[in-house]
Amino acid sequence: MTFSTQLSDNSNMKTSLLLLLVALTLSACTVSKNRDSGNFTKEEKAMIDAGKADEAMRVFIINNPTDLQLLRQKSSNLNPEHDQKTIALFAKRLEKTMVKEMGVGIAAPQVGILKNMICVQRFDREGFPNQIIINPVITYFSEEKQPCLEGCLSIPGRSDTTYTRALTIKVSYYTLQNEQIEETVSGFTAVIFQHEIDHLHGILYIDHLKKEMESKRH
Ligand SMILES: [Zn+2]
Repeated sequence: MTFSTQLSDNSNMKTSLLLLLVALTLSACTVSKNRDSGNFTKEEKAMIDAGKADEAMRVFIINNPTDLQLLRQKSSNLNPEHDQKTIALFAKRLEKTMVKEMGVGIAAPQVGILKNMICVQRFDREGFPNQIIINPVITYFSEEKQPCLEGCLSIPGRSDTTYTRALTIKVSYYTLQNEQIEETVSGFTAVIFQHEIDHLHGILYIDHLKKEMESKRH
């Protein structure tokens, strides 16, 4: 739809204004509708539905320019009220991918889905279970840091020691059962949380190495 800039009379002007109002109202509805359901794009849903619950997804890697572009993007929150079937299927496939690739953590963007979901192995719990974490937010970082040898499924063939990870964090998130949790996590599991939540902001662990080098230079 286009608008004429040459208005011949008042009634044309009125009609145009009315049309403009209708268009604005329609676009406002579309925006709020997207925000409400807000979960998966058509492409994302197709990628998730392309396999069964026990099938891993393809891991996106930085060596591939298209993959890298996606890995650098920010993810958005999941609304647990919508697409519950797809969320459940995706959670299973994300965990399956982590297990198959022998990771201890994975974030949704690493399989091409820009949504705030991660899977972490809980080394601070008996039996080291995997846990799906939805919409996580770190609300506290301890001043005290911990050195950690980190690797990443999206950065094959290397691992590096980072010195920027907080020893203890407070994290708030939702479980798959839509239960809100706030907890304090320390040690190696806290590094996994920090690494995976970084992915949701388009940050990779190698960015921390750059920060360290810069702080040494000054
Ligand atoms: Zn990673």
